[in-house]
Amino acid sequence: MSLRLHNTLTRRIEPFEPVAPPRVVMYTCGPTVWNYAHIGNFRTFLFEDLLRRYLEYLGYDVFHIMNLTDVDDRTIAAAREAGVSLGEHTQPFVDVFFADCDFLRIVPAHVYPRATERVPEMIDLVQSLLDRGLAYRAEDGSTYFAVERFEGYGRLSQVGRRELKVGARVASDEYAKEDVRDFALWKAATPEDESVGAAWDAPFGRGRPGWHLECSAIALGELRNRFGEGDTLDIHAGGVDLIFPHHENEIAQSEGATGRPFVRYWLHGEFLTVGGTKMSKRYANFLTARDLKEDHVDPAAIRMLMFGTHYRQQFNFTDEGLSGAREGVERLAALRQRLVEAAGDANASGVPEAAQALEEGFRAALDDDLNAPNALSALFNFVRRVNRELDAGCWGEGEARGGLEIWDRVTEVLQLVPGARTVDRELAAWVEEQITARQEAREARDFGRADAIREELSARGVELEDTPQGTRWKATAK
Ligand code: AMP
Ligand code: ZN
Repeated sequence: MSLRLHNTLTRRIEPFEPVAPPRVVMYTCGPTVWNYAHIGNFRTFLFEDLLRRYLEYLGYDVFHIMNLTDVDDRTIAAAREAGVSLGEHTQPFVDVFFADCDFLRIVPAHVYPRATERVPEMIDLVQSLLDRGLAYRAEDGSTYFAVERFEGYGRLSQVGRRELKVGARVASDEYAKEDVRDFALWKAATPEDESVGAAWDAPFGRGRPGWHLECSAIALGELRNRFGEGDTLDIHAGGVDLIFPHHENEIAQSEGATGRPFVRYWLHGEFLTVGGTKMSKRYANFLTARDLKEDHVDPAAIRMLMFGTHYRQQFNFTDEGLSGAREGVERLAALRQRLVEAAGDANASGVPEAAQALEEGFRAALDDDLNAPNALSALFNFVRRVNRELDAGCWGEGEARGGLEIWDRVTEVLQLVPGARTVDRELAAWVEEQITARQEAREARDFGRADAIREELSARGVELEDTPQGTRWKATAK
């Protein structure tokens, strides 16, 4: 079997077929950096991390884009309240977000474009929608997307036209729009925006981008600049609250401008709840990753807790759940230690049946729309069976080494072993520099230098693999 994913666009589980395998271009909506992200947000980012890591395990060459929303109503209001500029307000939250991602062992995206850095691309996108007659400038100086003129609006969220009208009327305070369903692409600058530096000149008036515009412009810009012609992402993911209106509007803007499908697979993660209510800043029922770090909670336990429920089901956070997860990761760590001891200095000389069953069970689970709870069951079945077989003296040293290799390969995807090596951002940047230097040395036929670089990386626990798509690396577990 191969990977199958639930696509919100069709409401079906479909075989995963990227546009140009082995490449997978994946876009995930990033945090709004007006404040600290909470662990509800991180449930979504962890589901996306599992997706990214599993795609790489399967051999795909993933390019991951995550935007940072550093201009919107919330960031502007928070900067005003703090009496600082937008950039001064958001920077510390960006720093903490990265630190939290490292703590939770989330593999860094390849790029983190900030909305404020991509305003020229956003202006171009609005201009092309105006040129195509899909947008209009209203009396209030803002520019809106004309939903009526875009065929297929509502396809993703399956929200009917009537419901849209009724819902939008209640929420709408923008009276200049031609149709209540229309949404702002570009908002006319207000004195509040100006006071924090959140206003830019554009041919259609000074203003700032709407939130939806940001993701379309960043995604299309990255696709064009890095991958030539393509206008289609393989995967776009986020939490379920983004299906409507955010992702529906992203489709309208992107497909309206390019005439081509924007996304192949739309993936949405369900909410983390507390006492049955969505975890949210608004309900003051949230916990941050830093809270858990200060309580010395192991990141492996947090990952285990989150992966214990399928990403498309709601999950209620409790302290009991967390302590159960802590016990679970300790059992995994104890088993690994037992395998290390049983392997001694031996080289791998065989794959025990139990280890084969582990990898098969793990793959079957994650191939089935990332069924992480079943992948965890495969791990715990292995723990029980191997403990029994080791007690009975069934495994030789070489088999224990072989079993350990498989164990490390599958747990690398889930990252559930306490104290396991994590990818550190500075190390990652340094490794990328070394790989570039090695490539240059090889091009200059200076193989001595190229080998010296590989050795230095190896001394720091980094192994390289040269593939037709370029050099990959991994930090080997010590
Ligand atoms: P925001 O910072 O509000 O833009 O949200 C960042 C991400 O977190 C989005 O993908 C949201 O869908 C997601 N999100 C927000 N609240 C929750 C929650 N309680 N559980 C899971 N995901 C959430
Ligand atoms: Zn987005």
